[in-house]
Amino acid sequence: MNIFEKIVAGKAQCNKVLENDDYLAFYDIAPKARVHILAIPKVCVKDLQSASPDVLKGLCEFTKEVAQTVGLDKTGYRVLTNIGEDANQEVPYLHFHILGGENLKALGF
Ligand code: 5GP
Repeated sequence: MNIFEKIVAGKAQCNKVLENDDYLAFYDIAPKARVHILAIPKVCVKDLQSASPDVLKGLCEFTKEVAQTVGLDKTGYRVLTNIGEDANQEVPYLHFHILGGENLKALGF
């Protein structure tokens, strides 16, 4: 079980932002921006490349709701997802990084 599977199963803690039946959003443990949230489907999919259109569509809609929940829809934000080795994907579980809360120009992404 990877760490995000444990979080979904309630076996590891997270600082939750938003949840519905199919998706969960929580704050990144090592934030790379003033606001750094991770949004995931509750069903484990390895990455965007292996995700179904339905899962991706739902994750995009959920991401918009997360942004509205914390006010990032008003100030702007960035969505990023790492896929595989060259992207240095650390957790093999599809997740969108939602970054904002400050101007992102200076960040090393
Ligand atoms: P990746 O490199 O796979 O795209 O990003 C994985 C992200 O998960 C990193 O930003 C990292 O800080 C975050 N992360 C790793 N372990 C945990 C954890 O236990 N809890 C939370 N909230 N975030 C984590």
